[in-house]
Amino acid sequence: PKVDNPYLGATGYVNPEWKAKAESVSGGSRVSNTPTALWLDRIAAIEGTANSQSNGPMGLRDHLDEALAQGAGYIQVVIYDLPGRDCSALASNGELGVDELPRYKAEYIDPIAAIESDPKYRNLRIINIVEIDSLPNLITNTNLAKCATMKSNGGYVNGIAYALQKFGAIPNVYNYIDAAHHGWIGWDTNFGPTADLMYQTAVASGSVNNVTGFITNTANYSALTEPFFTINTTVNGQSVRQAKYIDWNFYVDELTFAQAFRNRLVQSGFNSNIGMLIDTSRNGWGDCTATSALPCATGGLGARRPTAASTSTDVNTFVNESRVDRRLHTGNWCNQAGAGLGERPKAAPASGIDAYVWIKPPGESDGSSSEIPNSDGKGFDRMCDPTYGGNDRNGNSATGALPNAPISGAWFAAQFSQLMANAYPPL
Ligand code: BGC
Repeated sequence: PKVDNPYLGATGYVNPEWKAKAESVSGGSRVSNTPTALWLDRIAAIEGTANSQSNGPMGLRDHLDEALAQGAGYIQVVIYDLPGRDCSALASNGELGVDELPRYKAEYIDPIAAIESDPKYRNLRIINIVEIDSLPNLITNTNLAKCATMKSNGGYVNGIAYALQKFGAIPNVYNYIDAAHHGWIGWDTNFGPTADLMYQTAVASGSVNNVTGFITNTANYSALTEPFFTINTTVNGQSVRQAKYIDWNFYVDELTFAQAFRNRLVQSGFNSNIGMLIDTSRNGWGDCTATSALPCATGGLGARRPTAASTSTDVNTFVNESRVDRRLHTGNWCNQAGAGLGERPKAAPASGIDAYVWIKPPGESDGSSSEIPNSDGKGFDRMCDPTYGGNDRNGNSATGALPNAPISGAWFAAQFSQLMANAYPPL
């Protein structure tokens, strides 16, 4: 029988491959024993491969065996190989074409399920993080051809339903579906429809009981909490919602968003005991001091973390001077300059939240700053280019991305140094 919150009372698995990378950077041993997720970002990662810049030679079985050796209580595995993956961006385009749902089932999900169901691992809680960014893309980004295709051919919904069904049947496996972040589905036009699509997908898997919960902010940078204002704050009679940065969103941070989205999911039909995860690996936004060799002041906002609410009576100035999230726009997602490590992983930190987790392994790139030929199948997305002026998904803002980044998943030591320097809470 599954427990309600698999993080409670359990020690997380430390991935030795990430640990070694973290310790290759000065000061890395301060955080290298932190549990991070194992990303199965291609079929070859199931067995382990040295032929990719994001995976090491350890395959899924090797990691599970190592988890037993560590005496770990849980391990986190990212399921990330849908046909037509990452349909609105290029940096993490996957290996499977838009019509390759049969291969996804037979060559990706089935072998993972076979390994995860080995009775040898029965006392380990295996937490699967299911398919980052996929269902939200079907709600907001079907103006892009590839997303429209993935909606019309059912590849995402049927692929996820199949995964939920296979993994949900294993007694010690827990499924958390990716639910984007507040700067993506925090508007009412996206919020309810996304929850309803998730419910339909779970129903298509055979049962809502296949879903333990949801995760927000995976591999993203949205602040956990804005300490100096809420969505209800007004400035000189004007709601902060009308500030350019908030842009009429109903949420200003991840914690309030995740808690509200949980309630909306229950309203859609999910069990009332579902729990949320928030990826806090890189949303710390501490002080970006001059100690870093990389650019850290983003958009002229200043590098310092505010220590009090602004006294400005102009709503835009108030929000920009008060917010700890220093991004130029909440749609900026690639290698953000000035970001820091966020809250360390913690079980049951707040109402409705199963855990703060580190799913994106800090120091692994989100995408290359310029085109880099590679055999990992990774494209070049200009949202990772610090010189790009943006598109309609980031309000045509500058990207705020760090320069000189390698392809997604590859180790980016300079970024890791900056994440440590800007950690909040500080290291
Ligand atoms: C990449 C994966 C990588 C993961 C974790 C994703 O953006 O596409 O290859 O494993 O990030 O770093």
